[in-house]
Amino acid sequence: MTLIDPDTTHLAGKTVVITGGAGVLCACIAENLATLGARVAVLDIRPDAADEAAARIRSAGGQAVGFSCDVLERASVEQTTKRVTETFGPVDILINGAGGNKAQATTGVQQTFFDLPAEALQWVFNLNLMGAIIPSQVFGRVMAEQKQGIILNISSMNAFRPLTRIPAYSAAKAGVSNFTQWLAVHMAQEYSPAIRVNAIAPGFFLTDQNRFLLTEPETGALTPRGQKIIEHTPMGRFGSPEDLIGTVVWLITPASAFVTGIVVPVDGGFSAYSGV
Ligand code: NAD
Repeated sequence: MTLIDPDTTHLAGKTVVITGGAGVLCACIAENLATLGARVAVLDIRPDAADEAAARIRSAGGQAVGFSCDVLERASVEQTTKRVTETFGPVDILINGAGGNKAQATTGVQQTFFDLPAEALQWVFNLNLMGAIIPSQVFGRVMAEQKQGIILNISSMNAFRPLTRIPAYSAAKAGVSNFTQWLAVHMAQEYSPAIRVNAIAPGFFLTDQNRFLLTEPETGALTPRGQKIIEHTPMGRFGSPEDLIGTVVWLITPASAFVTGIVVPVDGGFSAYSGV
């Protein structure tokens, strides 16, 4: 019996939708999946950035188109599904990458937990949790009809144990991990065991959404929080977006055919380290 299929990626000709695809981590994922032969639909609320990300992929020889899409507006996601299908054919893989935190939902010297504005907390819950649920409803329906498909969510270290200062983001990502398990069971039992749902939980990657917490704006030096993260990451560095690719490819290809409902840390050992 052959244990390993020599064609381990199986992405050639597959249509991948990636939300938040113009962002730091997802643009890198999009580029790499295109390199492996996938047709990539780059969805983002920033249409120009989505177009630029797709153009970069095309200029490198890959297939990609940018689509303006707000993951929190069901009508926008439905319209985008239609446009993606017209452009690339049926969607095989959905990566729910749109997410993030904001300064107004972060405790600190300026604002205590007691004063965090409800709108800011709600914004973070919506973007991270509803932003994964709504596209999963819309593209998931298509996968249910096709009896196959793959959904990959992006959770976070905060889902395992909350980090200080970012209560809404931590709770929302815990929700994303929980939803990943729920949807994996639901899709396999109700529609098809060939529909798999998993998540990655990136550790710490220096990007626009967390730069204000991890580095000093004037000097770029690590803040005490940034320093603590490095000290608690056994590999001693922040992740670079490329560090996610191997795990993403594993989870969206038949290499993980019997894997559903898991959340994989990609964190340089952060979640394994007790601090002692
Ligand atoms: P990023 O801010 O660079 O990218 C997020 C993208 O989502 C942006 O391009 C933004 O325009 C888009 N977006 C925002 N609202 C949207 C909406 N309503 N509809 C569609 N698109 C929308 O962030 P990133 O650091 O690349 O993070 C990508 C994902 O990884 C997020 O879910 C984030 O929470 C998660 N994550 C990041 C880290 C990290 O260290 N950076 C760690 C763990 C998890």
